[in-house]
Amino acid sequence: MTSENVLNTLAYASDETEFYAPMPAGYKPGKTKYVFVFGTVMSGLGKGIFSSSLAKCLKDRGLTVAPIKLEGYLNLDSGTLNPYRHGEVFVLDDGMETDMDLGTYERMLDQDLSQLNFATSGQIFRRVLDKERKGSYLGRDVQMIPHVTGEVKIKLRELAVASDADVVFVEIGGTVGDVENAYYIEATREMAFEEGPDSCAFVALTYIISPPKLGEQKSKAAQLGIRGLLATGIQPHIIACRAQEPVTRKVLEKIALYSNVPIDRLFSMHDCDSIYVIPDMLRGAGLDDQVIDILRIQDRCHAETGIHAREAWQGFIGRLKSATRQVRIGIIGKYTSVRDSYASILHALEHAGTALGARVQVEWIDTTDVTDERADEALAGLDGIIVPGGFGVRGAEGKIACIRHARENRIPYLGICYGFQMAVVEFARNVCGLQDASSTELDPDTPHPVIDILPEQKQIEGLGGNMRLGGRDVQVRPNTLAARLFNNAPEIRLRFRHRYEVEPAYIERIESAGMIFSGKAPDYPIMQILELPTDVHPYFVGTQAHPELQSRPLRPQPLFLGLVRAAVQRAEQRVLASTGQGASL
Ligand code: GLN
Repeated sequence: MTSENVLNTLAYASDETEFYAPMPAGYKPGKTKYVFVFGTVMSGLGKGIFSSSLAKCLKDRGLTVAPIKLEGYLNLDSGTLNPYRHGEVFVLDDGMETDMDLGTYERMLDQDLSQLNFATSGQIFRRVLDKERKGSYLGRDVQMIPHVTGEVKIKLRELAVASDADVVFVEIGGTVGDVENAYYIEATREMAFEEGPDSCAFVALTYIISPPKLGEQKSKAAQLGIRGLLATGIQPHIIACRAQEPVTRKVLEKIALYSNVPIDRLFSMHDCDSIYVIPDMLRGAGLDDQVIDILRIQDRCHAETGIHAREAWQGFIGRLKSATRQVRIGIIGKYTSVRDSYASILHALEHAGTALGARVQVEWIDTTDVTDERADEALAGLDGIIVPGGFGVRGAEGKIACIRHARENRIPYLGICYGFQMAVVEFARNVCGLQDASSTELDPDTPHPVIDILPEQKQIEGLGGNMRLGGRDVQVRPNTLAARLFNNAPEIRLRFRHRYEVEPAYIERIESAGMIFSGKAPDYPIMQILELPTDVHPYFVGTQAHPELQSRPLRPQPLFLGLVRAAVQRAEQRVLASTGQGASL
């Protein structure tokens, strides 16, 4: 049976057929090709970075690409996951709360993603169970194969239809051998069978161990990992070997021998300084050519697009490597021991720094025991500070003390979401004279609830997926710092994830004391950006949004650019004061 036949045969498994491949409306067999990326040996190999870099290489050849991450866990989204364990929650424009890898894809591809680009086992099973209740399975017993795997295939094909992509990149979470991901792997095998020859490329990422005592690379774990994949009925086309150092020819030959993968389809993916050099590393090794060859899509590539995209990227890498100005920015938060909890902020700082020729050194500040008296000491030597998003009461008073110190001592400040709210609390207490002003998240009985729960949040119960989430339009007030930063655009779009807001009853009081709300929601009195006048403070800005989620290597986010620019100026004034020299921005 040809692939075309398989696709047309069915529809729903019934008494007449065992196949189960319902096609979403508009699906064009053969139009979209698929690349499946699996991890073997262990997690934490940077599968997302690898897949997104490879997807970028293909995009830079003029192909349209659409990534999707398949997560094994049963949560419906990543919103309820603890950032300590799982890294930051990344919010997409449509409000989907996802794994941080989606951030890597958005940054690498400079492409906005949506819920179509993210699946969890929870979502897949929910769809299956909803269909079961509606009687859609026509009296059949509902099984892992073909129904659950069928739902995975529908999800992949829905993305193909919606994106009209040349290539859908599918990253399977976890490691081959995990029980929770096994049905995803099975679905990809079925997919390749149904779609037919030249339609799917299977890529395995593996790890080459170098025990320090032995002083040589050992390939056994990688061989066993690949064997695990072969046992699922999948023959990888390409194997990428993660390692500390470049993988030796001898090791690559061994892996070729055990995996049936020719040596020119085995790649060394050794550690490098920045994730942004990986696309060039993959291109240099010819990985994109191999994928294009496997999928037979040479005729869809455009050489022109490629040249421009590569030049722009190399320009970015050049600036990244040559940045010399040093700035120190403090991140003041609760999860500061886990860098992944603030991944997007770190990237946003790097993008802004690179655009300004600056290397941003991040200092982590734990505020658990910072007070007004000790803020000076805690923030000594910093050129700028960020209070990032957060929840709950722990460390809040320390953050407020740091914000006060930044405001009074003209230290560049960017408050993100919770950091915006705490800046309002600090200002209300210390400038507006509203004693004990607070957020009702910290103190439900405060006499001055300057930050209070959004009205739409009052009726909601439970903590899953119900914050004010996703992209929203923001009106920018003309002739403000925000207006300058956003090039005088009257309306911009930012991404949100919050339950609390500035209580509208206090807006006038706060503004009359000198704080400017320079960004607002178009239809409601929801304050979205705050600032102090630049003659009072060089850079004191807060936003109810999460601007870090929208920063891209070649398009740094304006509020971060503003912070880093002000921090560079502060750093240089310090140098100037001590040496009598300086540079201008
Ligand atoms: N806890 C605050 C709120 O719910 C801030 C949220 C955040 O920083 N993402 O509004």
